[in-house]
Amino acid sequence: MAFNIFRKKNDDDAFPLPERMMTEKEELFCYSFDASSMQGEPSAIVKPVNTSEVAQVVAFANRKLTPVVPRGAGTGMTGGAVPVKDAIILSLDGMNSILDIDERNMVAVVEPGVINGHLQERLEEKGLFYPPDPASMNFCTLGGNIAENAGGPRAIKYGVTKDYVLGLEVVLPDGRVMMTGGKTYKNVVGYDLTRLIVGSEGTLCVVTKIFLKILPLPEETITLLITYSTLNDAAFSVSKITSSGITPRVLEFMDKGSIQAVESYGHYGLPQDAEAMLLIEVDGSLTAVSEDADKIASICTSLNGRVSIAEDIYSRKRLWEARRAISPALYRIRPNKINEDIVVPRGRIPEILQALRDISERYRVQIVNFGHAGDGNIHVNVMTDKNDFEEYGRAKGSVKDIFRETLRLEGSISGEHGVGLTKKQYVGMELSDTGIEIMKAVKKVFDPNGIMNPGKMFPAD
Ligand SMILES: Cc1cc2nc3c(=O)[nH]c(=O)nc-3n(C[C@H](O)[C@H](O)[C@H](O)COP(=O)(O)OP(=O)(O)OC[C@H]3O[C@@H](n4cnc5c(N)ncnc54)[C@H](O)[C@@H]3O)c2cc1C
Repeated sequence: MAFNIFRKKNDDDAFPLPERMMTEKEELFCYSFDASSMQGEPSAIVKPVNTSEVAQVVAFANRKLTPVVPRGAGTGMTGGAVPVKDAIILSLDGMNSILDIDERNMVAVVEPGVINGHLQERLEEKGLFYPPDPASMNFCTLGGNIAENAGGPRAIKYGVTKDYVLGLEVVLPDGRVMMTGGKTYKNVVGYDLTRLIVGSEGTLCVVTKIFLKILPLPEETITLLITYSTLNDAAFSVSKITSSGITPRVLEFMDKGSIQAVESYGHYGLPQDAEAMLLIEVDGSLTAVSEDADKIASICTSLNGRVSIAEDIYSRKRLWEARRAISPALYRIRPNKINEDIVVPRGRIPEILQALRDISERYRVQIVNFGHAGDGNIHVNVMTDKNDFEEYGRAKGSVKDIFRETLRLEGSISGEHGVGLTKKQYVGMELSDTGIEIMKAVKKVFDPNGIMNPGKMFPAD
């Protein structure tokens, strides 16, 4: 068992950082799962505090042919941080310094364990802004965001993590440290390794330092809440807004199931009789945002939406708390809900919502939908409980149809949660054999011994 490699006496090649290692049963348990509800069995947890320590641990594991699983906060939805048996969990939460906020060059330099929301707060104090805002921003790490290419509600206007990563410092599996990119906004020397590593789910290398592009904080933000008596009116409002020439910074969608779940979870004052709801934000200069908000309100009203505006910071915060509570609220109702993260071209949202309704009827399972409708990214929750064996089977059976419909509508089976363990068997539905072959070959170049987060992302051979 890999565990023994840390314990051998008189081993010339003993584990280099015993003081950073934890192997107690309780500790191993805490690091054995993430937000996907999958679970593994690590042999040890190692918490390095700098790049040199990361390099020592990874190079040691490479010599011993022991799997290494980098881990941020463990909020991943697809099992990316779940260890294969006997892996070392490389927990990066101790490398959590904001190293520099360089206002002259509009670049923030951070370690991977910095919590996304902490960077946001520090920047806002200085009138600055880092747009990628996963709903988990108050607890997920920037290293995890890089590895998953995380998105968030503001992606419709500002893009996702990859659009802000200017450079990375990474540790390769043999312990070499490599820089890609840096502080410049442009760089076309050689292949774009930064972009390759963003979204690589810890399967190529360990990210140890991150250079992020930052923006000035927008002058004004207006938040609107629109409720509907039919799902169709909400879906058509999304298409009409996105084709109207206005780019809201947020265009979030919640169906009846999400609204009711969130209300019974936290009593946020959302209208429980509504069939659907849109949470919309516009930002920019004071005059521009008022005009945009008026235009959006009139589009939504023309499609029978009831529009209200968050009057103050408190009501805006409360709406966002409700939005961020959807996922935990749904888990409380059905602990084993299957959470998919599909994305379609945004004009096809009405079609995918209809297809999801059909699937729900066909498989006799409740499907609750919410998400970043502005960029076509819907979180599809097939509500189920493993204890109801028969229902759980039907729920699992519906997943392939959900993906089939998504791909038929020119979408993708994962908008922002990655592949990890939970989606790897479906990857072949979207990628060609050649595409998978090239990706595997790239992995081999970075990681010839296959120690970096093995068993993830690719379908089994
Ligand atoms: C309630 C809730 C809401 C969410 N909302 C969103 C959302 O709106 N948008 C979105 O995109 N995601 C969302 N997520 C998913 C999740 O928060 C993101 O994927 C996030 O980026 C994971 O960060 P983490 O620090 O928790 O990473 P982990 O879960 O610890 O790890 C995720 C992956 O990154 C790898 N990794 C971590 N750190 C490093 C590193 N330094 N170097 C190399 N690889 C590394 C791991 O090996 C793993 O494969 C949500 C999750 C929850 C629970």
